[in-house]
Amino acid sequence: MIDLKVCERGPDGYLQLSEGRGVRFIDTDEGLETFFSCQVGVLCLCALDAEWPPVFSNDGTRRRRGHTQAATLAQLALVDESRAHHFVVIDLMKISPAFVKQHIIQAIFECSDVVKVGYSLWQDVKAVVVSTTSSSTEGGHHHQNHQEELNGLREMSKGTSWVDLQRYHGEFINPRGSALGLTDLTSVLLGCPLNKALQCSAWGDRPLRQDQLEYAALDAACLLDAFGKTVDRVLKGKGEAPLNPMDAAKGLERALNAKYEERASRNRSQNGRGQGKKKKKKKKQGRARGEVESHEGDDLDRADEVAVLLQEGCEEIKSMISGWFVKREEPPKFICDEMLGGLAKQLRSCGLDCELAVRPTSNCDYVREMVETAEREDRILLTSSVRLYQRRLTEQVVLVRTRGRREQLQQILAAFAVSVPDSNLFTRCILCNGRFERCTEEAKLESIAPAIRRKHEAFFECVRCKKVYWEGKKYETAFQGLKGSLEKLTLGAGKDAR
Ligand SMILES: [Zn+2]
Repeated sequence: MIDLKVCERGPDGYLQLSEGRGVRFIDTDEGLETFFSCQVGVLCLCALDAEWPPVFSNDGTRRRRGHTQAATLAQLALVDESRAHHFVVIDLMKISPAFVKQHIIQAIFECSDVVKVGYSLWQDVKAVVVSTTSSSTEGGHHHQNHQEELNGLREMSKGTSWVDLQRYHGEFINPRGSALGLTDLTSVLLGCPLNKALQCSAWGDRPLRQDQLEYAALDAACLLDAFGKTVDRVLKGKGEAPLNPMDAAKGLERALNAKYEERASRNRSQNGRGQGKKKKKKKKQGRARGEVESHEGDDLDRADEVAVLLQEGCEEIKSMISGWFVKREEPPKFICDEMLGGLAKQLRSCGLDCELAVRPTSNCDYVREMVETAEREDRILLTSSVRLYQRRLTEQVVLVRTRGRREQLQQILAAFAVSVPDSNLFTRCILCNGRFERCTEEAKLESIAPAIRRKHEAFFECVRCKKVYWEGKKYETAFQGLKGSLEKLTLGAGKDAR
């Protein structure tokens, strides 16, 4: 059942649909209605991919926007209970939103009996949902309209019937722990890559050519095979041979949770062991070579060890963000959970926009507000909680495992390739993330001791919390300290300087 084999290696070495697998193109409401009510049985599995026009920024690089693009094409590879396969390409620009809602969103996305398979699945689902809301995609209204529906679906998407192969790709398939895209996954699992030659063909033109249809359908179809192979790999040796997609999805989820748990506990014990080892080493060297000498050697050892750990942590963060982070002109914005207050201050010191979530009355409000702020303001959520990370309440979430705030800062700057020029240092209030403005108001300056007022020319006010700052001795020390630690950055973020 699970070994689906709907794709094969084509003569050009790329993956193609197996001989005799037809693709249906649907671009009318009636067509969609007929297809789902007459031609397909009760669905049990749906692989989904969606296409939307790329958005280019001024410098010509493709970039992600604050809000989701509407999909123009949805490709589904469906398996029904009679085990028949159907490959459909649906023109979302032609079908009425009500039909998309009824046949795709409600009957598939919201139906917990249908296993949904995708690669970065939530992105595609979001784009399909957004395509059903009003055609004006600019401005806040549109955003409001579908936000509630999306929130509801997002909640559902944490259920077992949703299988994002990207998560398994990074954890189980690619030994280096990175998810490098769907074509990498098909190369590893199915033995050949996807041909991306048609990726930039005229998807806006109608009718679509047969090769375009097959190309589009293949992105969904290959997910079926990749799903089957992923199940084989992940559950192999566990004595599990699931008979249907739902059992397979459940098995995958169990395995993923076990993996997270295993890694978390390994990290806990490694941290403990590392410290013990260091102490022992110090003692030994102390005895052998005398105090002064040993001290130097020990520092070097430790520096090496720290550098390796830092680099590993950074690589891990890179793999967490590889599916969704695209470097843009402006530096990314962050929101830290309350355990990462030190990191938030460090990021702010570097002039980066970083909110800090504070725990209000109830736990539930705290997490929800943090996630909502992250989504609304396009912020990357930084958390130190494995549990929160696993819940994937929002797409852009990073688990920060390193303890020290300077080390955390280094990893974040390196992983996101952010460079911090000196002129950005201390341009934000580290207490509240507010920006500074030159403060000239006499009434405000009066509260400052006359000696300080005489000594300094410029005073700055945080636009948010109204605290007044000046560049005193403390500032100098902090500035030099931070500057020094950024210069020592061993993780190579500095190379990316613009
Ligand atoms: Zn402030």
